[in-house]
Amino acid sequence: MTTLPPQPRVSPPARSLPFLAEHPVTVLESLTDQKAEALADLGIVTVLDLLTYYPYRHHDRRRQARLADLKVGEEAWVEVAIRSGRVPPRRGRGRGGSRAEFTVADPSGTLAVTFFNQPWRVKQLPAGSRALLFGKLTLFGGRRQFANPTVDLAGDPDRRLVAMYRSSEKAGITSREFEGWITEALDRAGVIVDPLPEELRAEHDLVTRSEAFRQYHRPDEIEEKDSARRRLAFDELFRLQLEVGIRRRALERDARGIRHLVDPHGGTGDLVSAFVAGLPFPLTGAQARAIAEIGTDLAGPLPMHRLLQGDVGAGKTVVALAALLVAVQGGHQGALMAPTEVLAEQHHLAVRSLLEGLTLPDDTTLEGSRPVRVVLLTGRTPAAERRRLLAELAGSGIDIVIGTHALLTGDVTFADLGAVVIDEQHRFGVEQRATLRAKGREGTAGADPDLLVMTATPIPRTAAMVVFGDLDVTELDELPAGRAPVETVWARGPLEEEGVWERVRSEVAAGHRAYVVCPLVEGSERIQATSATEEYDRLRAEVLPELRLGLLHGQMKPAEKEVVMADFRTGKVQVLVATTVIEVGVDVPEATVMVVEDAERFGIAQLHQLRGRVGRSTLPSWCHLLSVAAEDAGPTDPVAVRLRALERTTDGFELADVDLELRGEGSILGSRQKGRSDLKLASLRRGDRPLVLEAREVAEGLLEGDPRLEAQPLLAREIRLFVGEEEAAFLLKS
Ligand code: ADP
Ligand code: MG
Repeated sequence: MTTLPPQPRVSPPARSLPFLAEHPVTVLESLTDQKAEALADLGIVTVLDLLTYYPYRHHDRRRQARLADLKVGEEAWVEVAIRSGRVPPRRGRGRGGSRAEFTVADPSGTLAVTFFNQPWRVKQLPAGSRALLFGKLTLFGGRRQFANPTVDLAGDPDRRLVAMYRSSEKAGITSREFEGWITEALDRAGVIVDPLPEELRAEHDLVTRSEAFRQYHRPDEIEEKDSARRRLAFDELFRLQLEVGIRRRALERDARGIRHLVDPHGGTGDLVSAFVAGLPFPLTGAQARAIAEIGTDLAGPLPMHRLLQGDVGAGKTVVALAALLVAVQGGHQGALMAPTEVLAEQHHLAVRSLLEGLTLPDDTTLEGSRPVRVVLLTGRTPAAERRRLLAELAGSGIDIVIGTHALLTGDVTFADLGAVVIDEQHRFGVEQRATLRAKGREGTAGADPDLLVMTATPIPRTAAMVVFGDLDVTELDELPAGRAPVETVWARGPLEEEGVWERVRSEVAAGHRAYVVCPLVEGSERIQATSATEEYDRLRAEVLPELRLGLLHGQMKPAEKEVVMADFRTGKVQVLVATTVIEVGVDVPEATVMVVEDAERFGIAQLHQLRGRVGRSTLPSWCHLLSVAAEDAGPTDPVAVRLRALERTTDGFELADVDLELRGEGSILGSRQKGRSDLKLASLRRGDRPLVLEAREVAEGLLEGDPRLEAQPLLAREIRLFVGEEEAAFLLKS
């Protein structure tokens, strides 16, 4: 057996992960060129790629059992005689695969066996023949059964603990082949060096990295794979936590913050106190705490990097505005950025109304003061107006600008950008941070603006730690007082749907208002708008002819939208038929009914947001989710799980948990963590949460005394490997 090529002087230490990443899979003798190409199609190019192609499960094929001894959930070989087998006739003419159903027996008992999409099994296993089957005992309709067991006719089965790899029919690679190549790679890699010192491993009950790779791919005992997985998952989380920890420290290292004037005359400052005093409601305790916390950040020497998490309707806008006003009262500018133009427009409306009547001292005017000036700048701003606004932003006279992320790009120059609020973080990455800093440094203060990021919907705390680990977190964990909870009902059929429209009629009769959200259709905003218009016509003609309906979609001109919204506020329009443009920001307290059509097309977060448009006063409210599609779905059907979760709770954090369980980390990670750092084994779901905390603790402990990992060249190399050379250079050098 050959060994891996000798290690050139400049190469990373032998058998480290970067070393394994430098060697293509073609160094393996058991791999043909043709298979290497097939692997490349699967994205597996290096030995490291192969070793991190983890089995999706392990079969313990060492055990053979009598049918009577096998318990539900256990797996084993059983030696059986085939009693009978058949392919039952299909129900209806639907596509669907055909099943082959058998009854088998051994001297101790009988068992049902089902093969899906394998009708040929009936020929393979004629009544009276004998076979060895490996499977896991499940209960189906109260009967003990094996589904899709492994079949061995030779009577000489593979009695091992087998790692099962996702095979690829397209690439023509079987699980067995993966097993062979990985075994060779493990044998030849020998001992893989471990960047974690012994004491830390002992303290956190982690096996060595070598053991972990070996025991996850080739466990001798079934328990070994669990401790192996724990270590490998820990490493993934650990790298992420190191990465965010290093990033936070790098941002702080050469930061130039603005010490905002939070407290000119005691209290929270003139402008902010005037703003709070002028609000038509008292702050919630959580809002007051958040504003104080943010104030401390703003007054401090380092630029703020803070995440504001809060449920729908918790009142994040007020907190965000308070932060911007701190900047404004010190003579700086503030920017509020939304992910879409429609949302930016809605923010603009909300902010303008919240700031109505608020003035700033200004000696150059007769009154000695002037209104706080807020403008909207989006891709839809006409060219001439845009030019004028850009000139003003670069000069003076604009206090707060609201727009999309495009505000940070291109030709927008700020005279003195002091604070930035970003609504809905998911699309805001590291690159934009640098741009943000540059925008601030161009201005007269020559400093980095403070940054507040808001999530549109909350995400679980531990997940936030992984995804937003480089931000401090404030939670708004309190809704304004007196909000009546929204009753959510899933309408599963036509009869229930009629009840929904009845509710709309009776609420409107009581002087309240209703939203109807149109089905989400694939395609452009134009297509969406057309479909909404059709639905509006249908409802007006057939379903609610006696009511006054209005239509709102993203293709309407801002002025038209404002007219409809104004009419809805006053009650001239009683039922607003809309696309998801109303998802965020729309605020009409008299609205007490939300109807979402084809609710199965929306995600949990989106439905929760939509529901947040009602229940904004002390009036009881309803959210009706129309979805016949999921009517006869089973209890584990994702649509049913989603809709039932919404029926059960209005707690955004709890819903975020359900979403995470259903959709996995992808739903949260989004574009934030790209490339190789994607979590392969670790999960942000409940099971791995303690591991996230441990990884964070170890990472922070390490970075405390060594913020650039200078004493940890191995770890530094690993980070470089996973975050990419360019970013690593920014993080680890400079
Ligand atoms: P979200 O956190 O979902 O962005 P908003 O900022 O849109 O919530 O606020 C939701 C609604 O609650 C708005 O109508 C806002 O004016 C109102 N609101 C905010 N704070 C309070 C409060 N302390 N008391 C009563 N209503 C409030
Ligand atoms: Mg909001």
